[in-house]
Amino acid sequence: MNTTEEKINIIDGRKFSQEYTDKVLRPRCKIFKEKYKRIPKLSTIIVGDDPASESYRRIREKFFVNLCVDSEVFSLPKETTEEELLDLITKQNQNNDTDGILVQLPLPDHINEDKVIENIAPNKDIEGLSPGNVHAWTKSTPNLIPATALGVLALLKHYQVPLQGKHAVVVGRSMIVGKPVAHLLLREHATVTICHSRSKPLEKYTLDADILIAAVGRPHLIKKGMVKKGVVIVDVGVNFEDGKLLGDTDFDDIKEDASLISPVPGGSGPATVCMLASNLLLAFELKQAKNDKKLQKCLRTYYENYETLENKDICV
Ligand code: NDP
Repeated sequence: MNTTEEKINIIDGRKFSQEYTDKVLRPRCKIFKEKYKRIPKLSTIIVGDDPASESYRRIREKFFVNLCVDSEVFSLPKETTEEELLDLITKQNQNNDTDGILVQLPLPDHINEDKVIENIAPNKDIEGLSPGNVHAWTKSTPNLIPATALGVLALLKHYQVPLQGKHAVVVGRSMIVGKPVAHLLLREHATVTICHSRSKPLEKYTLDADILIAAVGRPHLIKKGMVKKGVVIVDVGVNFEDGKLLGDTDFDDIKEDASLISPVPGGSGPATVCMLASNLLLAFELKQAKNDKKLQKCLRTYYENYETLENKDICV
C-alpha cells in the first residue's frame, strides 16, 4: 500500500482540530472582542504535583494561548483539605469574571472527587460532569457535555460516518468517556452496546461492531481478529509502554481491516482539547445570552453542528 492510500483510512484528529478552530472558534473570538469587550476566562485548579496532570495542563495551555482565552491556574499543594478546595470552587462559582472551571482529576485520596464535581456550578462546568449536566446529556437535552465524548462524535461526523441504525460498541463505561459517548451515539440513533471489564469474551461484542470506541486504558486490548472488516474505530486510550504512547488497539495490525481508524497520538487527544475550548466558549456565550432561549439554541447548534450550517455568521 502506498503512502497516499495508507492515509485514506486515518481519522486525523490534528487536522480536524485545526479546521474546527479556524471555522468555529476563531470567528467567535472576533465577535467576543467587538460585542462583549471581553474574552472567556478559564480557572484551572490542580491539587498536588501529578506529572500527568501537569502534562495535560501544558497541552491545554498551548492550545488556549492561541485562542481568545484568558487563563488562571490555581496550583494547590497535595495537603490541601477538601474544605479548602470546596471554598475555592465556591469563590470561582461566584466570580463573574470566571466563565469555566476545570478541576484536574485525579485528586489526592483524601478528597472526595464526586463532592468536588457536584460543587462546580453547572454553567461553568466545562467538563460536563456536574449532576445538572449529567442529567441533561442523559436526557438528550445537553448543556455542557464531556469534551472527550464530544470529540469522538465530532470526529465521526467530520468523516461522515453513518451512525443511524449502526451497531456502535463502546468499550469502557466511565462517566468521563464511555457513558457520555454511548449517550451521544444513542442520540444519533445508533444501536449501542457498552462493554466493560466483565464483558467476556470481549470479541463476542467487538466482532459485531460497525463502529468501535475503545476507552479503556489497556494497550493491546483490541487485537487483530477482534473486529470485522470495514469497522470504524476511534481509539481514546492513552497508555505508555517503553516510553511510547499507545492507544487501546493494535493499530498497525488492525488498520488494514478498518475502513477508518484514529491513531494514538493524533486522533482523539487533539479533538478533546479542541472540544474543551469549544465548551468554554459556549459556556461564556450562554452566560451572555442570559434568558434568550432562541439565541441559546442557536449557539448550541453552531458549536456542535457547524458543518451542516450554511450561514456561519449567525447567533449574534
Ligand atoms: P477508567 O479507568 O475510568 O475506565 C476504564 C473502563 O474500561 C472501565 O469501565 C473498565 O471496566 C473498562 N475496562 C477495564 N479493563 C477492561 C477490559 N479488560 N476489557 C473491557 N473493559 C475494560 O478510564 P477513563 O474512562 O477515564 O479513560 C479511559 C482511557 O481513555 C484511558 O486510557 C485514559 O487515559 C484515556 N483518556 C483519553 C482522553 C483523550 O482525550 N483521548 C481523555 C480522557 C481519558 P469496569 O467499569 O468494569 O472497571
